Amino acid sequence: MKKAYATLEQIQKIAETYDTPFYLYDEKGIRENARKVQKAFSWNNGFKEYFAVKACPNPSILKVLKEEGCGTDCSSLTELQMSDACGFSGHDIMFSSNETPLSEYVFADKLGGIINLDDFTNIEELEETLGSFPETMSLRYNPGGYFQIANTIMDSPQDAKYGMTTDQIIEGFKILKSKGVKHFGMHSFLASNTVTNDYYPTLAKQLFELAVRIKNETGVELNFINLSGGVGIPYKPDQEGNDIEVIGAGVHKVFDEVLVPNGLGDISIFTEMGRFMTGPYGALITKVIHFKHTYKEYAGVDACAVNLMRPAMYGSYHHITVLGKENAPADKVYDVVGSLCENNDKFAIDRELPELEKGDYLFIHDAGAHGFAMGYNYNGKLWSAELLLREDGSVKLIRRAQTPQDYFATLDIDDTMKKYL
Ligand SMILES: *Cc1c(COP(=O)(O)O)cnc(C)c1O
Repeated sequence: MKKAYATLEQIQKIAETYDTPFYLYDEKGIRENARKVQKAFSWNNGFKEYFAVKACPNPSILKVLKEEGCGTDCSSLTELQMSDACGFSGHDIMFSSNETPLSEYVFADKLGGIINLDDFTNIEELEETLGSFPETMSLRYNPGGYFQIANTIMDSPQDAKYGMTTDQIIEGFKILKSKGVKHFGMHSFLASNTVTNDYYPTLAKQLFELAVRIKNETGVELNFINLSGGVGIPYKPDQEGNDIEVIGAGVHKVFDEVLVPNGLGDISIFTEMGRFMTGPYGALITKVIHFKHTYKEYAGVDACAVNLMRPAMYGSYHHITVLGKENAPADKVYDVVGSLCENNDKFAIDRELPELEKGDYLFIHDAGAHGFAMGYNYNGKLWSAELLLREDGSVKLIRRAQTPQDYFATLDIDDTMKKYL
């Protein structure tokens, strides 16, 4: 069963200061999980988790992760700027972008971040842009075909826009070596939101075998292998989650089997998890404001898809706890809907819930990654606030809610909106 990390009393208290909807992040959960990740890979010399900023781009969250030993994985100018402002520098920053504006390479290089090139043509482009290569370079790999674990197809890299082919990456390392690059890394992201302890070990084995081939064919000994993101979380209450300890041990096993006997036992393992690091530790809190009975039973809430897009975009399941009714029988069926003029604006469809009343607070689980971050302003709806639930039970505002003035600010080019600015 999924349990909310805040009680009705806590939310009622917070709501005296901050209007719903808002995001609430659980600092304790984030820290404990980050420590488990560090422990699971502590066998590896140089292990580092580069938190994927896109999953939860908030400086307060990044600082918590920094204190737990994480770096950041960026793919845009503003993600780099946020990392810099939070005190990440040098090799604490990974720049894993694609279709990259050249000016962003320049900025990433200025911060001393590790540049991970997505495409073979980026090699020449980067040299022209920077004048020469940084001492450390990483290349992104895409093996094509299907990514399988045992007999199950997890994803189809052949259809993914990312990474270089096997021939390209081998040629790429040859070129980088000939141009004086000293330290090398390889990166690959082949399946998203995997809920199996076998994803990283299966991916790692494939990359480790390629690392041996790269050594044999080019003389390049990789310094790090970046398993990137893709470690998922159990969104559904009956799903069993990943065990990061088992995942770390699984990668350790193939490391010892493939890399160590080939003289590559010094390679550092990097990860770029987003979802696994913050997903379960963020929730969207929203209030029931309206009921409608037509051909179905609708419960209208004060949040909508602009605050959490995943259900509308992917049909994703997000578990809902009705605060204060945790133990009540779920004997009613609702569509839980927001106020957008779009029929996909539904947080839940045909969901069994306890009988709802106006004013009930809903705790929408697992919104801590790719939640607020994917927010938008359709229908002129505004972004919510983000709050951090500290370990001592206090609450800190870590992003204020957007105001109409914020929304109109970019239109401040003539006097049309002056009245509201
Ligand atoms: C999105 C992304 C991640 C994080 O993915 P999760 O599924 O959240 O773990 C990591 N690296 C890159 C390059 C990404 O694009």
